[in-house]
Amino acid sequence: MYIPFSPPRIDDRTIEEVTAALRSGWITTGPRTKKLEKMIADYCHVPQVLCVSSASAGLELMLHWFGVKEGDEVIVPAYTYCATANVVVHCGATPVMVDVNDDFLINVENIRKAITPRTKVVIPVDIAGYPCDYELINALVAEPEVRALFQPQTPEQHQLGRILVLSDAAHSIGAQYHGRKTGSLTDVSVFSFHAVKNLTTAEGGAICLNLPAPFDLEALYKYLCTKSLHGQSKDALAKTQIGNWRYDVLEAGYKCNMTDVLAAIGLVEMERYEEDMLPRRKAIFNAYTEAFKDDERFQVPEYETAQRVSSYHVYPLRIKNITEVQRDAIMQAIFKREVSVNVHFIPLPMLTCYKNMGYKIEDYPVAYDNYSREISLPVYYNLTDEQVAFVIDAVKAAVEVEVKTEN
Ligand SMILES: *Cc1c(COP(=O)(O)O)cnc(C)c1O
Repeated sequence: MYIPFSPPRIDDRTIEEVTAALRSGWITTGPRTKKLEKMIADYCHVPQVLCVSSASAGLELMLHWFGVKEGDEVIVPAYTYCATANVVVHCGATPVMVDVNDDFLINVENIRKAITPRTKVVIPVDIAGYPCDYELINALVAEPEVRALFQPQTPEQHQLGRILVLSDAAHSIGAQYHGRKTGSLTDVSVFSFHAVKNLTTAEGGAICLNLPAPFDLEALYKYLCTKSLHGQSKDALAKTQIGNWRYDVLEAGYKCNMTDVLAAIGLVEMERYEEDMLPRRKAIFNAYTEAFKDDERFQVPEYETAQRVSSYHVYPLRIKNITEVQRDAIMQAIFKREVSVNVHFIPLPMLTCYKNMGYKIEDYPVAYDNYSREISLPVYYNLTDEQVAFVIDAVKAAVEVEVKTEN
């Protein structure tokens, strides 16, 4: 029995909807994309949602919107996917990496220590689908002393008057913090709909706009529609109206709009996300926790408390008292049993690109410890109970063999 890590849920319903989009004659941004935006806005209780071609593009678009540029600093966790920091580099700004907690999430006191007069944005990441401590993060950026340090340089920065909280919610659609859904917890949040994410459009993402007054979010939504389409005053759909051909370009914008063919996948995903997808993922998480929690060799992740509920994206199991080399050996032994596992993530300071910029993993001991003992287990809708049991057996057997040989 071969168990893949995270295949998408594609069935007849998905294929029918994509086919309908293709047959409709409208394949790029149009009615299906707009419908998906509306569904996400309703689901997350956010005033405005813009769908884009990826979470990376969405994060970058919002950094550009806020005017982040060379000389600016953006605080990111050391423990995340490279996209979180790469987009900062694309703006010419400096990613300031901070260490995380034992729960994989950015440490708020470390954010505080990293704030300087150059700090423009903080990007917390909901690793594995577990929301960061947003009450603390939002309170931190609003503190009078922290506000006083902020040096606004663009109209948007003046209007906000403080550090922007831009959450990388790539993993966490459907997660909850203090009874509120992710997307509605920070100034701006960005979801990913990449093929391996909880809710997919093959490639895609959504920007949730939640900025405080006096920002006009409807106007901002319209502005971002053009900014994600070369700054063109009319989109393709508007231009198809007979005689409505003339357009203008207001600025050198980007090209990162979502297509209706892909939005079709997202519509089907959204329809069955809360009722069908999340409960199945939760059941798999619970089965793993049941199997590993009383075995002292394992450290199970936190994913549900009275205040916080995960979207059950990644199950980050850790093995106690092992080295990185032992972890790698355990993974090989699991692969031999035809179970696909993964590591989320290699901390940024360990990647050549960031090492070359001078970041050192020694400065992020918790990120390293989390990484060196972590193995992500398969979680997806079509994973059966029998397969879950097979994964559990494979992991236990691998740990049994590897940890014994080493000792
Ligand atoms: C997947 C991922 C992204 C990027 O999402 P894309 O839609 O592929 O651009 C960003 N951050 C994290 C933490 C991710 O896992």
